Amino acid sequence: MGRFAPSPTGALHLGHLQTLLLGWLQIRGAGGRFVLRIEDIDPSRTRPGATEAIIEDMRWLGFDWDEGPGVGGPASPYLQSQRLALYEEALARLRARTYRCTCTRKEARAASGGPEPVSGEWPYPGICREGESHPDGLASLRIRVDEGVVSWEDGWLGSQSQEPSRVCGDFILRSKAGDPTYQLAVVVDDIAMGVTEVLRGEDLLHSTARQILLYQWLGAEVPRFSHVPLRRDETGQRLAKSRGSRGLSELREEGADPRVVLGGIAVDLGLLDAPERVLPGELLGPWADSEYAARLAPAESADPG
Ligand code: GLU
Ligand code: ZN
Repeated sequence: MGRFAPSPTGALHLGHLQTLLLGWLQIRGAGGRFVLRIEDIDPSRTRPGATEAIIEDMRWLGFDWDEGPGVGGPASPYLQSQRLALYEEALARLRARTYRCTCTRKEARAASGGPEPVSGEWPYPGICREGESHPDGLASLRIRVDEGVVSWEDGWLGSQSQEPSRVCGDFILRSKAGDPTYQLAVVVDDIAMGVTEVLRGEDLLHSTARQILLYQWLGAEVPRFSHVPLRRDETGQRLAKSRGSRGLSELREEGADPRVVLGGIAVDLGLLDAPERVLPGELLGPWADSEYAARLAPAESADPG
């Protein structure tokens, strides 16, 4: 069982499509079930209409999913904004490890002490573990992270290990505004939906160790993680909307042929030697013969979900 879990913060672009294609082929190539889940819990980043556009883009390209928006399924609903009660339930189960934190961003950063963050974030050093700095203020909810190394065998990257106490420290599960964080929601949902294969972009690699801790604290089996390379543009920079990468909706509205778009991605991935017009299912053959399948094929026990 695998999933695609986009955040509707804007249009899907070719970078998302590459990750979606690899994840879909991984699961379809093994006869597994594929879930679409919309990660729309951050109200400040969610854009109106983006969810509908993602679904339309995916259908336009010929992708299907066994569970998700428009299809339903046993873990319904598949929009995180409609699953808030589940996150609260998980927080209740984690209560022995969580505490209220009233630190401002500035305070937390100043106290973290490290001159350089390990991966773009400053590890929170647990100032409020024994009591809040500003007891009357709004509080976020953090979870206590002990020192220690977390290791896993990544489907794409091989052996990985991280020290969450040095990367993020005690991390936030619910914001001061009361919203569950990505870290909490993604784990709660992957557990609830029975996901055994988490294939995603390597930009999320730094989140994985803390997510593994959440699985363990929640008493759930840890899925296999596979962090695949992000698509880069000609100048070698990571594709981002701000750099003018093409949105899929934009291509769709311009009347582009979705099979040409998909063929282009397949060539870039080495699944095709030359551009061809293809549907996702037509790439299952090339996939089966590729290095991707050799490395990413789900273990027998993992599928069908
Ligand atoms: N919603 C996340 C994103 O779009 C992906 C979550 C995940 O794959 O773990 O970046
Ligand atoms: Zn604090």
